[in-house]
Amino acid sequence: MDLDTLWKRTVENLVREGIIKSDAVKRAFLKYPRYLFVEDRYKKYAHIDEPLPIPAGQTISAPHMVAIMLELADLKPGMNVLEIGTGSGWNAALIAELVRNDVYTVERIPELVEFARKNLKRAGVNNVHVILGDGTKGFPPKAPYDRIVVTAGAPDIPKPLIEQLKPGGKLIIPVGSYHLWQDLLEVIKLQDGSIKVKNHGGVAFVPLIGEYGWGE
Ligand code: SAM
Repeated sequence: MDLDTLWKRTVENLVREGIIKSDAVKRAFLKYPRYLFVEDRYKKYAHIDEPLPIPAGQTISAPHMVAIMLELADLKPGMNVLEIGTGSGWNAALIAELVRNDVYTVERIPELVEFARKNLKRAGVNNVHVILGDGTKGFPPKAPYDRIVVTAGAPDIPKPLIEQLKPGGKLIIPVGSYHLWQDLLEVIKLQDGSIKVKNHGGVAFVPLIGEYGWGE
């Protein structure tokens, strides 16, 4: 079976399982298949609902995990969104498709900044801006954000990310242990600046390394 047919089946499965809930997320998944964002030798595995290796010992998340986070983020056209942990660029491409706006994404590993930029260009995405840096500090030049999506596991909620959210804005972030187990948190910043946290259960991400994450 060709890559496109395999990918469409994966998307249909996620819809059937109730993981992809909205037409918008379904359309974004169909527009940007995961195989566009992995190295050639992994393309034939891109439809399998598991994480896959990307350069520098990092991972591209499993399709169900990306869908869960995008549905929780509840992205709407025009929103200003920051992603932390660019990796392959796939999630950033999906976010950009959902918000139809410029998206800022921060990655700490230079090799992955290049990898993501190459993938995004080849996929025809020109409104994702990949920034090299420590995403635990957010990205102040484009703050405040409607949404911040973190795709690596933090020891705690990084304070700068709360500061850079708009009142009413939302942060999606895995928080927990260094090795493979975190809770997926939905952090809502209320109008008075305080936060409300909802826990969406266990997930497994590579560590968020930086000043407000795990130490270098
Ligand atoms: N969102 C990615 C995608 O669509 O391919 C997957 C991200 S991968 C699970 C996590 C990424 O977070 C890795 O590329 C890692 O280098 C990056 N990362 C870890 N700590 C970071 C930090 N402080 N700032 C920016 N990126 C960080």
